[in-house]
Amino acid sequence: LNTARVESLRDNINRPTRKISYPKNADGTPVYTSEFFGENVFHLQQIAKALPKPAYASFLKQMRGRQALDRATADAIAHAVRIWAMDRGATHFTHWFQPQTDTTAEKHDAFLSLKSTFTAAGEEVTAIDAFSGSQLLQAEPDASSFPSGGMRSTFEARGYTVWDTTSPMFIQEGPHGTSVLYIPSVFISYNGDALDEKTVLLRSTEQISKACCDLLSLVESVPVGAQPKTNHVFTTLGTEQEYFLIDRSLYSLRPDIKTTGRTLVGNLPPKHQQMDDHYFGRIPSKVMATMSEAELELFRLGVPVKTRHNEVAPQQFELAPIFEEASLAVDHNLLTMDVLSKVAHKNKLKVLYHEKPFKGVNGSGKHCNWSMSTDSGENLLDPTVKPETNYRFLLILVSVLHAVQQHGALLRTSIASSSNEHRLGACEAPPSILSIFLGQHLTEVLNSIEESRPIKNFSMPEIQTIKLGGTALDVKVASLPSIARDLTDRNRTSPFAFTGNKFEFRAVGSKQSPSFPVTILNAAVASALQDVSAALREQMGSKPFPSDADKLAVIKQFIVKTKNIRFEGDGYSDAWIAEAEKRGLPNIKTCPEAFEQLIAPHHLSMLTKLGIFSNSELTSRYFIMNERYAKDLLVEANTMRTLLAQQILPAAFEYRGSLAQSVQLLNAIEGESQSPELEALKALTPVVKKMQAAIVGLDEAIAKLHTIHDDAVAEAKAASDFIVPALQHARIIADQLEVLTADKYYPIPRYSELLWF
Ligand code: ADP
Ligand code: MG
Repeated sequence: LNTARVESLRDNINRPTRKISYPKNADGTPVYTSEFFGENVFHLQQIAKALPKPAYASFLKQMRGRQALDRATADAIAHAVRIWAMDRGATHFTHWFQPQTDTTAEKHDAFLSLKSTFTAAGEEVTAIDAFSGSQLLQAEPDASSFPSGGMRSTFEARGYTVWDTTSPMFIQEGPHGTSVLYIPSVFISYNGDALDEKTVLLRSTEQISKACCDLLSLVESVPVGAQPKTNHVFTTLGTEQEYFLIDRSLYSLRPDIKTTGRTLVGNLPPKHQQMDDHYFGRIPSKVMATMSEAELELFRLGVPVKTRHNEVAPQQFELAPIFEEASLAVDHNLLTMDVLSKVAHKNKLKVLYHEKPFKGVNGSGKHCNWSMSTDSGENLLDPTVKPETNYRFLLILVSVLHAVQQHGALLRTSIASSSNEHRLGACEAPPSILSIFLGQHLTEVLNSIEESRPIKNFSMPEIQTIKLGGTALDVKVASLPSIARDLTDRNRTSPFAFTGNKFEFRAVGSKQSPSFPVTILNAAVASALQDVSAALREQMGSKPFPSDADKLAVIKQFIVKTKNIRFEGDGYSDAWIAEAEKRGLPNIKTCPEAFEQLIAPHHLSMLTKLGIFSNSELTSRYFIMNERYAKDLLVEANTMRTLLAQQILPAAFEYRGSLAQSVQLLNAIEGESQSPELEALKALTPVVKKMQAAIVGLDEAIAKLHTIHDDAVAEAKAASDFIVPALQHARIIADQLEVLTADKYYPIPRYSELLWF
């Protein structure tokens, strides 16, 4: 066997599982999770403690966007947080922000400062620790190397990070017992344009709040001038994060996974996921060790990670938090991904967040569970017991239907990337067609309203129970209690499904930041809510408030209008693709087509009218997406080319050499001119030739991209047209060669090794 592979496997087997100790009280008893949860977070209570009452009140007003933060308050908070952080070992602080790279960015500065005093004896320099209000509020990283889509040229590279007061500061441990103070921030240009993911998310949240409060004031009949019941609405988000974990020493022998996050070559082992024995199976001990170490750190960071389990594919896992306000949930998802990677590294494992690291088994998504909540904590998508008369719920529901119908193509854009493209429609993820699944119960509710008839059989008792005490065979299991039945059924094949009291946007990719998809969803729903409010106003005419009949009429109007995006069947089937086409639903197959939607007039005007994006922010994002896609594929093509030319092909040559030698020897000794070795050699030769041709094909595709200059859109198109098929073709040949080459010569770890602990 190839020695590097053997050593890696041996290393994997001999490595002990890393042990960490969970917090213990002085008497050795465990500290409960709730007691240390959030201990590395600088909470509002701490700000309250640090500030005089009026200053704290003005800080709260600032947080809610009602006034600017004054210098004295900022200084007081900065002082308090520095002492708090330094007492916990912090030596540095950093603004922590989210450029359009799907990851976070940070640049550390020490609290250390020098202070000069001038005396008769001359200048005296002393070292002090300092952190001012203005350092807390704003920093100016050199922004020239972040993606900007041409919005800034390098000579005007100023970018500012500004403290996002809605997300709490926290410390993260560094090496040697030190730590760093993290200040969640937005990232904007000199002209105030959003350069990041967070600014637009915050804007979209504002808009959805405004639009929703307006609708609620109509629905709840709030007289003009009176205090409305709901002053603020926020979106809630719970991100189910899927990922793969593989051995790090094997990973280090795979140049493709290292540079592109996925395997560019490789055949499935005989057994992978077909037995369904990995899903919810026993969690391997090395994985458990990694998960719980990461969870410990995340608990301390105030990230409410709740669920962990094995996923469908071998080595695939999932982690889900308790939902939170969307922008905080995004921060926490990015933090989770980061902490998990770091901890896996310490455990000699590697996390793969790519949407499709292995061909032929399930890929990974990031299901975004989304809803809206009032400031008093009411979930606006909770149908309650009698949804058919809950007009508030129905109006919100049809708004979401309307949003997805109007801007489904834009939602498709928000999840478009070269990596997610491998997953969408590949039998474990919904296709590229955006449709909504509502479930039997709600579908009947909407149908009955549409047909102006009473609801069928669905006047549900408060809780339906399933009785386990007797079955058709009359086998009684009296020892089992009765259980409550969930009123919503499930459809894993839908890209956007109603799951009881929230929607689940399932098409989102595991690797991407949830920020952009949620921003687009918020925007589309905000715009839809405006349309629904306008329809209500029209319907009620000169009355001060809509009657129930008015509400029902508007609900019905939108039910009829949005019918074509409701789909309850199998989203993975070919029949659906044909049906969707008949219904006129867009089926956007490639990324460049998806990116186009961002600047399509219908979507662009919605986003700019709401002020969530400016025209230039949208065009810049459009260029960034195209540029990134082309670059991703170019990196893949170059990685593939090197892997094939320098590792896979030479291995085949070596094997051929050994066969040729045997043939020669056998011929000399036995006079055997048609030895089996010769047969093997002959089988290998045409595939080796095809491999050489495939490498030339890759070179040609790469060269085509290099002839395009300064035109990201053309580059993306060329990447999609030439590099994607060249990669696919080269892979087919490489996989044939893997089968024909003796294992001893095969240079990189195989799927059978990567997908097994
Ligand atoms: P599922 O419905 O997929 O079986 P759960 O009910 O456990 O799973 O929820 C999955 C995710 O959805 C979790 O992260 C959970 O916190 C989140 N979630 C639950 N309710 C809401 C809500 N109202 N808004 C946003 N996310 C929610
Ligand atoms: Mg779910």
